Amino acid sequence: MPRYDLHCHSTHSDGLFAPAAVVARAAQRGVDVLALTDHDVVSGLAEAQQAASDAGITLVCGSELSVTWKDITIHVVALRIDPDNATLVQGLASIRGGRGERARLMAQGLAEAGVPGAYQGAMRYVTNDDLVSRTHFARFLIDAGYAKDARGVFDRYLTPGKPGYVAHAWASLPQAVGWIHAAGGQAVLAHPGRYRVTPTGMRKLLTEFRDAGGDAIEILSPSHTPAQYQEFATHARVLGLRGSCGSDWHGPGEGWMDLGDLPDLPASVEPVWKHW
Ligand code: AMP
Ligand code: MN
Ligand code: MN
Ligand code: MN
Repeated sequence: MPRYDLHCHSTHSDGLFAPAAVVARAAQRGVDVLALTDHDVVSGLAEAQQAASDAGITLVCGSELSVTWKDITIHVVALRIDPDNATLVQGLASIRGGRGERARLMAQGLAEAGVPGAYQGAMRYVTNDDLVSRTHFARFLIDAGYAKDARGVFDRYLTPGKPGYVAHAWASLPQAVGWIHAAGGQAVLAHPGRYRVTPTGMRKLLTEFRDAGGDAIEILSPSHTPAQYQEFATHARVLGLRGSCGSDWHGPGEGWMDLGDLPDLPASVEPVWKHW
């Protein structure tokens, strides 16, 4: 059985390794099929593709799209997309558009809460000018001593209701799925266990995702407990969705799951790669 890891990040968004280095590490760790899924960009895929052919593994062209559903932000992973598809390229550009202004507003909120210089601070960690994210603010805040780890920094500064959080309208769910399908790809609802919704809200989200044409649910993720693997496997089966798996790796020392560190998908679920 080939080993799949269908969710990870590079310096083209908020990861710490360049695409070629991510691929090399994945190959070294026994991953056979790797999807690079940088937030709202596809610019790292050419380098990753070259590195994958050098290492003898399969690269899946991917991205992780930021989406607004009701009043929450969710993520939709795109797999096997054509990175040159104009509809997708324009859609991703429209999602990225507001990030610069959002970062300025985040810094303003942080300044009012007693954290000066957060914009310049975060920019020191940015590796793609087109993609400032909360992760870059988090790294700055931790290194500057405002929090001791990622969990603390998000809880104190960067989540809804906290001083560095700025509400933002990303793509709609039908838009995101539509762009992914236009580019020939499959749409995967990323780490659903992370979204703060009631059980009823979760069923609504999963059903709307399916009705918008969504293809799969990310079942195995470091954001999920083993009990949630089973819970989302059941949702997938009931809704007729496939299942996916991804380490969501951003870099060494960030998160506890390394590339390829994934158990088998529950046998009751059809894998997203079934007809690849
Ligand atoms: P953004 O797209 O700018 O809203 O940033 C989202 C990114 O922040 C995610 O992809 C994660 O990498 C990171 N992130 C969000 N929430 C957390 C959290 N609670 N702990 C650690 N990282 C987080
Ligand atoms: Mn991220
Ligand atoms: Mn995500
Ligand atoms: Mn991710």
